[in-house]
Amino acid sequence: MEVKGKRAHVLAVPCPAQGHVRQLMKLSTQIANRGIKITFVNTEYIHAKVLAAMSEEDKRQSHIELMSIPDGLTPEDDRNDGFKLIESLRRTMSRNLTDLIEKINCQDKDEKISHVIADTTIGWILDIPKKMGAEPVAFQPFAAAGMVLQLHIPKLIEEGNLDINGFMMENELIKVSHDLPPWRRNELIWSIPSDLKGQKILFECILTAGQSIHHASWILCNTFYELESSACNLIPNFLSIGPLLRSDTSKSCASGGSFWVEDTTCLSWLDEKPDGSVIYVSFGSIAVLSQDQLNELALALELSGRPFLWVVRSNLVNGSQAEYPNGFRERVAERAKIVEWAPQEEVLAHSSVWCFLSHCGWNSTMEGLSLGVPFLCWPYFADQFHNENYICDMWKIGLRLNHDENGLRSRHEIITKIEMLFSDRSVKANALKLKEKAQRSVSESGSSFKNFETFIGHLKK
Ligand code: UDP
Repeated sequence: MEVKGKRAHVLAVPCPAQGHVRQLMKLSTQIANRGIKITFVNTEYIHAKVLAAMSEEDKRQSHIELMSIPDGLTPEDDRNDGFKLIESLRRTMSRNLTDLIEKINCQDKDEKISHVIADTTIGWILDIPKKMGAEPVAFQPFAAAGMVLQLHIPKLIEEGNLDINGFMMENELIKVSHDLPPWRRNELIWSIPSDLKGQKILFECILTAGQSIHHASWILCNTFYELESSACNLIPNFLSIGPLLRSDTSKSCASGGSFWVEDTTCLSWLDEKPDGSVIYVSFGSIAVLSQDQLNELALALELSGRPFLWVVRSNLVNGSQAEYPNGFRERVAERAKIVEWAPQEEVLAHSSVWCFLSHCGWNSTMEGLSLGVPFLCWPYFADQFHNENYICDMWKIGLRLNHDENGLRSRHEIITKIEMLFSDRSVKANALKLKEKAQRSVSESGSSFKNFETFIGHLKK
């Protein structure tokens, strides 16, 4: 949309979850670095977390205006209850956002909101911009493949592959294109095997958001064409602009979007380790483990005899503090570093890191593959299973960690796969090839570079 004689002013609105805020913040920083005014809107709760985790230097250097809207919950409500939060956002977010846009537009008539970039997870807000004289742009924080599936939902229901709650009917596989790995039961992007009620709510959300995506004039996605060309080709108005990496957003707003303070002591710890020796373990911001599972993992890391850096959030064990096996901390003290939150991209870029034991969230997947690090896959929910299929079957840059008959990833399984990953150089070689492709896509004249320039040109029109 042309806003003649006026400067573009972009409003970026993420879903209030760590992986979503981080990605959109990286994109927003890249847009701001091109001289475009950008206002980033979090919910009040997340806004406070982001500010608390930002360094003073980041606050000074940031070119992004940070604002907030209420999430519709009371102060006593549990914001870790993602489904309660989403239901509240569906009730209240459109109104709150409309009020905010009106307020901004009244403050400065020359800098009215011209474009709204909305996370597709909260895609229903894409209805708002046009009513406010702005252009809607969607931002897809998952793989393009996930969006292909999302856009196919009505057809899959019509053809009897899915019921109206998103459960698979007869078929064991859902295939939406010959070139894409199929989705098995429990691998759908709304899959939460441990919580079927939650799964139903997530499905409704994804279905509704999918319908609103058609309002967007562009769909931006943190992927690159060479990685997912067949999925990219299936989505209209699609611009792959990834990988979105912090190192590419310059120093401005280095910690921007983190909910936790990053423990940078792990970087000097990594400096002391030999090249290609360290196992990096992180489950992102949401995944949780049972205490039994944590014990198996801890013992596997100990028995591997290798140095490891492990991110253990204070809520990793079913929402509570982890308890380690007896004497574990003392026995591994010489070669282990445990932190609550790491500067993940810097860790993955460090020469001493060999592999990434990951829950395969899309950000972690993009970061690991763009930095040439092989994966040990430990998916937990939603799109993470399909990302695992991409990693292990299509790109061949990682190995699966399978469950045993008790539903646990046993220490034996973990050690076996760690050793396979250290000895099988072909996986590392594939990872390095993919890293090169990723870097090429964001270098001058690369596919993502060109798409981003197209988008910036459009904003500046
Ligand atoms: N992350 C981080 N430090 C950590 C663990 C994770 O900075 O110790 C970042 C990671 O780099 C990624 C995001 O948190 O950008 C997690 O997003 P992802 O999509 O991988 O998983 P989610 O948290 O959404 O499940």
